Amino acid sequence: MNIILLGPPGAGKGTQSAGLVERHGMLQLSTGDMLRAAVKAETPVGVKAKAVMDRGELVSDEIVSELIDANLAAMDAGTGAIFDGYPRTEAQAVDLDAILAKHGRTLDHVIELEVNEDALVERITGRFSCAKCGALYHDTANPPAKEGVCDSCGSTEFKRRPDDNEETVRTRMQEYRAKTAPILPGYEARSIVTRVDGMAGIEDVAAAIDGILS
Ligand code: ADP
Ligand code: ADP
Ligand code: ZN
Repeated sequence: MNIILLGPPGAGKGTQSAGLVERHGMLQLSTGDMLRAAVKAETPVGVKAKAVMDRGELVSDEIVSELIDANLAAMDAGTGAIFDGYPRTEAQAVDLDAILAKHGRTLDHVIELEVNEDALVERITGRFSCAKCGALYHDTANPPAKEGVCDSCGSTEFKRRPDDNEETVRTRMQEYRAKTAPILPGYEARSIVTRVDGMAGIEDVAAAIDGILS
């Protein structure tokens, strides 16, 4: 099973991917995470991408498609892939079809997390993650059970993304509307799109996604 989780910044793609990995042993392929790792390691790709990401604009199609191709190549053929934050443009959608074919995979579902845009800024500005294991949290909607301690690994160190500020979020939302939303009709024509109410609670969204995959 290979699926795309689609939705604007803050829709819950990362949160739901983590749940799918845990419940179904799938693998999350997040271009955002891959790019942040490249920035941290100061690789040539990271050095190139950093300023673009800080502005909230999209990194080049070539860079992200190469990251996806390389990561998929390293995966066990029997493990399902969750594409989180990719594809984000029509060119990337075309690339993904070619990459999947090359690795003998097919696209089973595109799951669109539908959210109210007004809620996104709050979701993004309240987002933080565990510095050690990457578990995702939110100041009010999804804090750790014990304040200051990661539920998953017990670490007491957390971090926030430099691009998770109100101004950058607006740019990211515009990029989504202008470049990413237009890829949906192509998938709709293939009858593989299902919409899920992303404003529901995290558990309810997870249940809705499981319903689609079963
Ligand atoms: P994305 O990967 O789509 O940008 P995230 O999964 O990182 O979104 O979620 C953004 C923020 O919103 C995080 O702080 C997360 O804890 C919180 N969040 C995710 N899903 C929900 C939900 N269904 N209800 C409330 N908050 C949520
Ligand atoms: P979010 O969780 O808010 O949806 P991501 O972590 O997916 O954000 O992406 C963070 C940033 O990384 C984006 O604003 C963009 O600059 C870059 N990026 C991630 N994935 C892609 C992609 N598929 N194409 C182009 N740029 C990307
Ligand atoms: Zn942790």
